[in-house]
Amino acid sequence: MKALSDNFEKHIKDTLNAGAFSNDKKIVEKVIHSGPKLIDDLINWGVQFDKNHNGEFDLAIEGGHSDARIWHKEDQTGKDIQSALINKILDLDNVDLFENTTLVNAEKTTNNTFSIQLFDNKNNLINNIICSKLVLATGGIGGLFEKSTNQEIATGDGIYIANKLGAPIENLSFIQFHPTGLYQKGSISFLISEALRGSGAQLRNEKKEAFMYKYDDRLDLAPRDIVSRAISNEINQQILPYVYLDATKIDAEIIDKHFPNIKKECLDRLGINIQNGVIPVVPVQHYSCGGVKVNEYGETAVEGLYAIGEVASTGLHGANRLASNSLLEAIAFAKFSIPSLTNNLKNNLFSPTDIKTSPLLKLDKSEIQKIISHYAGIVKSNEGLAQAKNLLLEIKSNAIECSEISLPNYEANFLLENAILLIQDALNQKENKGVYFNVDLN
Ligand SMILES: Cc1cc2nc3c(=O)[nH]c(=O)nc-3n(C[C@H](O)[C@H](O)[C@H](O)COP(=O)(O)OP(=O)(O)OC[C@H]3O[C@@H](n4cnc5c(N)ncnc54)[C@H](O)[C@@H]3O)c2cc1C
Repeated sequence: MKALSDNFEKHIKDTLNAGAFSNDKKIVEKVIHSGPKLIDDLINWGVQFDKNHNGEFDLAIEGGHSDARIWHKEDQTGKDIQSALINKILDLDNVDLFENTTLVNAEKTTNNTFSIQLFDNKNNLINNIICSKLVLATGGIGGLFEKSTNQEIATGDGIYIANKLGAPIENLSFIQFHPTGLYQKGSISFLISEALRGSGAQLRNEKKEAFMYKYDDRLDLAPRDIVSRAISNEINQQILPYVYLDATKIDAEIIDKHFPNIKKECLDRLGINIQNGVIPVVPVQHYSCGGVKVNEYGETAVEGLYAIGEVASTGLHGANRLASNSLLEAIAFAKFSIPSLTNNLKNNLFSPTDIKTSPLLKLDKSEIQKIISHYAGIVKSNEGLAQAKNLLLEIKSNAIECSEISLPNYEANFLLENAILLIQDALNQKENKGVYFNVDLN
């Protein structure tokens, strides 16, 4: 059930506010108005959104939202949606599923179809398919950073492929940092959901003092760019390389019902019981607001090529994604694309390989991640970005070719090209807005 005080206009306003009014208003309105029907579809397909004591759907509030409107399943909504969609796909007999398979190359043929190469990760084989339409739904680019909430698979493969096919990529430097990644070793940061702050958790500096009042009237629920910059600023003024999130005042019942996973992970990873101990957190790469430019049907500028989900830049997010608008966007654009995608769709054909792929370079992806994390993080500068570009081009020109085809090699090559695109995009920005902040710009 929608919160009685809420309405479409408020959600639209919050989305435009978070996006620094760089959003495409027509897209924002279309996506947000499509929400209720999409939620119904998901429920019909088996997603079991959480309900409250009265049996009504329990809606959460997150940063930048003026009302409680986030449909969720505990603290793992995406996982539940994914399971429901996988079950739905398994019921369809006109879908062939290839597991452990990675799209590594795509080219346009003379017949205006795509010839694509799929790398079979288990058997080290390449399969070729000719298809009339190609949908890129390969997710974000968290793999470009040393620390990200994304899985390691998020290497922006779809961005690399779309760019190679000639589709425009936009705003790749509009990277959203999640303010509260758990401070820990390793590249994948466990995310402490914003909903915990929505339920009353408060950020505190190393002296355990609340500080968000210095930065924004919305305090701990200000949009993510503001909270991330505030934390980064506090960290620069203290000794500890993290701040604390204090959830100790939240009722035990609420923690157990809504945040069982966060409670378990903090205990397992750091031995912290969040009901009586504060949680060390730092901002970490979380979401790519830009990507492959698409229109309202998910179509790129290349005929037959679509991009849906985090890989795409639809205009919904503008310069900063409003929390939790991304799952809505992915589902909405999947639906918006159907008429165009199914029009004149031909059967796929397996074909012998005839594509000449450029040889892979031998690369160390941690070098690329270091450069991007250092020079294209929350706070950027012109000098740093120019330096990053030089370093990346140097890596590219000095790298030797390697004959071994393997998933890590493909991914490192995709990362390098995407890193260059990201830095160039950052250099092209003319003003600070949303998540983009460069000390040399206004
Ligand atoms: C920890 C975490 C919590 C989040 N919480 C929320 C939330 O509460 N609400 C919200 O709206 N958003 C949330 N987000 C963001 C949201 O989950 C993502 O934006 C969304 O999952 C993106 O969906 P996608 O289908 O575009 O990509 P993904 O979910 O990343 O899926 C991409 C898929 O493509 C596959 N793939 C990648 N490259 C290739 C290739 N070359 N060939 C074949 N397959 C490939 C990957 O293996 C993966 O299965 C969260 C993100 C994270 C990381």
